[in-house]
Amino acid sequence: MDETQRTNSWLAEMMYEIWEDNFSDIPRKNFVLIKFGRSSKRQLGSIKWSSPRTKIRSLMKKRAIREQYEAQDDKRVTVITITKKFLNTEIPEYVVKATIAHELCHYTHGFSSPLKQTYRHPHQGGIIRKELESRGLGELRKKAKRWLKENWQDYALS
Ligand SMILES: [Zn+2]
Repeated sequence: MDETQRTNSWLAEMMYEIWEDNFSDIPRKNFVLIKFGRSSKRQLGSIKWSSPRTKIRSLMKKRAIREQYEAQDDKRVTVITITKKFLNTEIPEYVVKATIAHELCHYTHGFSSPLKQTYRHPHQGGIIRKELESRGLGELRKKAKRWLKENWQDYALS
């Protein structure tokens, strides 16, 4: 992937790659939009149902995005937002990847997704860690966690 510039389509490409490689058993029942956006200091990513506030209408003007949306029967849109601090190419790609994978676990567990909700709380007792490990993403998670522990403070405050 082109690492000189990170864009929303770069994010989407990465998400589809992870979906194909590690979540291929999880049906994509609606359109999942991924974009860079605002987030709090501690939250690197989030997953929500789209609302008028998420401003997806302007993104829908892009033909490729609109076509994917129209192909889905379920017209509700899931929006994954990744902190725009990850636009900085100093942040390793595996950290971005681990963040996307984390959000896909929520989708898998039925949070902000049309799939059946399988847990009461999205971060209940290690369910994300277990999900990632069962999908061969345990090492990625650890590596990202380590990098964040050692480096994130500098970026989070900037
Ligand atoms: Zn989460």
